[in-house]
Amino acid sequence: MSAKVWLIGAGPGDPELLTLKAVRALGEAEVVLIDDLVNPAVLEHCPQARVIGVGKRGGCRSTPQDFIHRLMLRYARQGKCVARLKGGDPCIFGRGSEEADWLARHGIATEIVNGITAGLAGATQCGIPLTLRGVARGVTLVTAHTQDDSSLNWQALAQGGTTLVVYMGVAKLAEIRDGLLAGGMHADMPVAMIENASLPQQRECHSSLGAMQQDAAAFRLTSPAILVIGEVAAVAQPLSMARTA
Ligand code: SAH
Repeated sequence: MSAKVWLIGAGPGDPELLTLKAVRALGEAEVVLIDDLVNPAVLEHCPQARVIGVGKRGGCRSTPQDFIHRLMLRYARQGKCVARLKGGDPCIFGRGSEEADWLARHGIATEIVNGITAGLAGATQCGIPLTLRGVARGVTLVTAHTQDDSSLNWQALAQGGTTLVVYMGVAKLAEIRDGLLAGGMHADMPVAMIENASLPQQRECHSSLGAMQQDAAAFRLTSPAILVIGEVAAVAQPLSMARTA
């Protein structure tokens, strides 16, 4: 069999949000490398595969990304069909393209399977439409966490008029608040913080830009969580009534 690595988005947590293509790829996989944020329930689609946890919170040591690259390469070179399962979408703050590039440079074919990214799922699961006619004509996905600690262009974000969806922001709430306030956003801009989106333990904290840090602390907000910042965060909670068990 020719070696191939599938880079698969497992979605935000609810195993039913997996795509049919992801299910098919998992069914073909002989080795599955699974990230921390992936719900292990999706492994029911690959009972035949050897499963290896490569979460950065656990398992791997000092150079985890390098370790993961080499693991994928080793199995692919053995001719095995490898599936790399990532939370959400592989290419939204997920290093999917870096891994695909690295594997391509080592002669291994990859195919990327989209997943539903946490920002989209989190908003929908708590009834927030990220775009809304007359309210928000766009969405900006940003990460609060950078490897080089470079700062975001807060002014552009504050004044862009789009809904902001912030990933990896739980530990940076004060910085986000200060940046957006300095960039000209109002302190009363609605904010929703959604923890464990799409999972049974999902929790939502509704606040405002000025109060979000204190509110999150009182709520004991923990990672993984996304922040939705914008007028839409105060709109249309009834959508969440549609959420089924
Ligand atoms: N590739 C992923 C993002 C990985 S970065 C995706 O497309 O969703 C990890 C960050 O994603 C977390 O810090 C958190 O901000 C967000 N995240 C992932 N899963 C989440 C979930 N179930 N609920 C809320 N946020 C989540």
